[in-house]
Amino acid sequence: MKHRFLLILFLICSVTLAVNAQTYSILIKGGTVIDPKNNLNQIMDVGIFEGKIKKVAKDIDPKEARQVVDAKGMYVTPGLIDIHGHVFFGTQPDHYLSNGLVALPPDGFTFRVGVTTIVDAGGAGWDSFSEFKKNVIFNSKTRVLSFLNIVGEGMRGGNWEQDTSDMNPELAAGVALKNKNDVVGFKVAHFMGNDWKPVDNAVKAGKLSNMPVMIDFGGSTPPLPLEELFLKHLRPGDIFTHAYTLLEGNVRETIVDEKAQKVRPFVLEARKRGIIFDVGYGGASFNYSQAIPAIKQGFFPNTISTDLHTGSMNGSMKDMLSIMSKFYVMGMDLPSVIKASTWEPAQVIKRENLGHISENAIADVAIFSMRKGNFGFYDKTGYKMEGKEKLECEMTIMGGKIVYDLNGIAKPIYLK
Ligand SMILES: [Zn+2]
Repeated sequence: MKHRFLLILFLICSVTLAVNAQTYSILIKGGTVIDPKNNLNQIMDVGIFEGKIKKVAKDIDPKEARQVVDAKGMYVTPGLIDIHGHVFFGTQPDHYLSNGLVALPPDGFTFRVGVTTIVDAGGAGWDSFSEFKKNVIFNSKTRVLSFLNIVGEGMRGGNWEQDTSDMNPELAAGVALKNKNDVVGFKVAHFMGNDWKPVDNAVKAGKLSNMPVMIDFGGSTPPLPLEELFLKHLRPGDIFTHAYTLLEGNVRETIVDEKAQKVRPFVLEARKRGIIFDVGYGGASFNYSQAIPAIKQGFFPNTISTDLHTGSMNGSMKDMLSIMSKFYVMGMDLPSVIKASTWEPAQVIKRENLGHISENAIADVAIFSMRKGNFGFYDKTGYKMEGKEKLECEMTIMGGKIVYDLNGIAKPIYLK
């Protein structure tokens, strides 16, 4: 009798242990969770199971997890969302950012800096989108989305991007609606003419499909007025990328009046109206002379993004974390920097299921260290700021799976 009782007790214990052992596939312990959507900025544990965030709580028992990540002294944030990258890579000579050699394969440049979602900003147009989807979207581990170029051929460079007869809003909207899981809006870029047609046709495509547009305002002499763009042509929710750039040769107006060291009044009005200001750092699209006065005035970017391509990544841009660190050094507080790289871009591209660590959300998570040392942050003009801190990616988790671990902080160690 006694033996039977012990056997039953043993069985109950084993079952309980087995169930407990499976509560979490990954448990992130002891990190400071910064989750702007949920107003979190405190030390919490994060439990993940079956690709979802299962629990965010003060102290979760490590015995309940198969794998435990020691995040003490680190920041735990939602996986980063870069809404301006160029990942329609290919081997076609002279194809620039559209199936060409200047664009980059996403997986090689995303996970190592905490990015789990990247939006290709106009590499593909309605005519080349199927190739982009087949080659890149289907074959990448990174979540790849698209701002479809209003030019059918996308960013093939040169004259291809000046052909207003190839900027068809109906065809663009048709492809976007057929590929709603992949396309999040439309892109206008590199147009060098005194003509509103590219912007207006993109907005028309946006209206037909209920999606935002992203504007790289190109250039012309004299420049088209920014005030008219923000207040007359764009809709609330539309995105102005390369917000902090000053181009050579008076071809585009700037958001900051550098003489007065102030953000222009119509820009503040545009923000109130709901125009989104995106960094889109790129090779030539960020000047401290614009960004410093803006940040001083509290005019933070809505979204931080890279404009990633072979040129920018080897120039002053580097990667998402380098830009985030730059804005932090300029005086933007860390929760705002994280918000502009997670929850805000998720809302801008209407993917509110991403960019936060709510219970039941997709488990896209990034873990960062704030490295201490002497760091230099320069821009395309050579102006340099010095900083003592810099973000470094320790781990990236995508859909509940570890996809990058810099220092082996998972136990047992993540082995690919
Ligand atoms: Zn770009």
